[in-house]
Amino acid sequence: MHSSHTLKTAKQGFYDITLTVKDAIRKCGIEDGLCVVYCPHTTAGITINENADPDVIYDMLLGLRKAYPDDPNFRHGEGNSKAHIKSSEIGNTQSLLFENGCLALGTWQGVYFCEFDPPRRRHFFVKVMGE
Ligand code: ZN
Repeated sequence: MHSSHTLKTAKQGFYDITLTVKDAIRKCGIEDGLCVVYCPHTTAGITINENADPDVIYDMLLGLRKAYPDDPNFRHGEGNSKAHIKSSEIGNTQSLLFENGCLALGTWQGVYFCEFDPPRRRHFFVKVMGE
């Protein structure tokens, strides 16, 4: 089984879900293994990056905006093609190792849900597997 989590997003951004992932692992009672975080959306993503200096996330969003601007030649009628592109660029999933019940994240790493087409009611899943 996996656990399912809901997130309401008001604006484009990276939402820190590290504590939710840690809690999902703790509740499983498995000490060592692999944790998969997955989001079932086409305009959102999951990533791991800096959680100490919030300016890094600001700069990443700025970089993504510059790399993937709107284009009058986009054909998708919903008008959110740049959000679809960012979603595929970031990816929908991350795999994390954990040992002794603790995520093997680096000192400056956090797990983020990335919203590219707000506002939305989002979901992500956490699957915990033992060694
Ligand atoms: Zn769309």
